[in-house]
Amino acid sequence: MPVLSIVVPCYNEEEVLPETTKRLIDVLEELIADELIHESSVILYVDDGSRDRTWELIEQFNRESRFITGLKLARNAGHQNALLSGLMKAKRNADIAVSIDADLQDDLAAIRAMVEKFHEGYEVVYGVRESRTTDTFFKRFTAEGFYKLMRGLGANIVFNHADFRLMSKRALQNLGRFEESNLFLRGIVPMIGFRSTNVYYARAERFAGESKYPLKKMLAFAFDGITSLSVTPIRFVTMLGFIMFVLSILAGIWALIAKIAGSTVTGWSSLMVSLWLIGGVQIMCLGLIGEYVGKIYKETKRRPKYILDIDLDPLGDAKYVGGETHEREEVGTR
Ligand code: UDP
Ligand code: MG
Repeated sequence: MPVLSIVVPCYNEEEVLPETTKRLIDVLEELIADELIHESSVILYVDDGSRDRTWELIEQFNRESRFITGLKLARNAGHQNALLSGLMKAKRNADIAVSIDADLQDDLAAIRAMVEKFHEGYEVVYGVRESRTTDTFFKRFTAEGFYKLMRGLGANIVFNHADFRLMSKRALQNLGRFEESNLFLRGIVPMIGFRSTNVYYARAERFAGESKYPLKKMLAFAFDGITSLSVTPIRFVTMLGFIMFVLSILAGIWALIAKIAGSTVTGWSSLMVSLWLIGGVQIMCLGLIGEYVGKIYKETKRRPKYILDIDLDPLGDAKYVGGETHEREEVGTR
């Protein structure tokens, strides 16, 4: 039976933590009783530099229950990084990890569905919101607009999926190989591959406390997501420069005709032509430089170029002398 680790990032969540703990322990106990997960499964809280009593509560629950463990980050690192730190711990101590927010807006019954999918052979299971009726109109509008924009820009993300998902040990190990410092999990996880599926659920309201994602954080999050997954905005600048360049040629022709027709003052034509030409060339060059900066930017991410699923000849590697055979074991085969 697989050991499950439920990873929960918490930032100033003292109001919700007692209830969350109770409900999550119920989920674990049921799954253990039904022999879907191993009894050493845990709930892993990650305290993301909270300023309230969150960490004291986690320590207290840890003393009271064998199901509760915790990580404490040295300072607020943000939701994505907090989640990653938990997942990277889970990848060592568990066979599967489910990530979920502390406010239990995501349906706990979906955890069982995810674990069942894992038993069917899926290694990544996305929790997808079926409806957003409990979100405010504003949140719904901005969130869905964001997903559409991301897809339009060529990022492969799962529509209406936040960070509620199950990942197998193998998927987690490969996630650990993405070395980019600007990590947008929702965009990265689909790049890993492996068999994946969706589990649908209705999203509830936060049952206590306030959203830790005010508009400012939400916008920063969306902007980070776009610029870390797509170079389309840069390409847009190049296109703009190109259009300006074409326009400058048209403007040049027009200025020449006006000069020949004699309807201009001296000096006007040369001024007009050079103005447009220089403008167009400049923007195009900026875009071109941008292309290269974009390439460098992709390069500095050091993303793995492929991820092994099955190797029909794993012993073939043993014949190879040298190289890091230890890593191959961890990342590659089952
Ligand atoms: N969170 C975090 N660090 C932060 C902000 C949020 O760990 O800097 C956690 C928070 O405790 C919660 C999850 O991320 O468990 C999602 O936050 P929230 O529910 O406030 O976001 P919303 O549901 O409003 O988008
Ligand atoms: Mg929430």
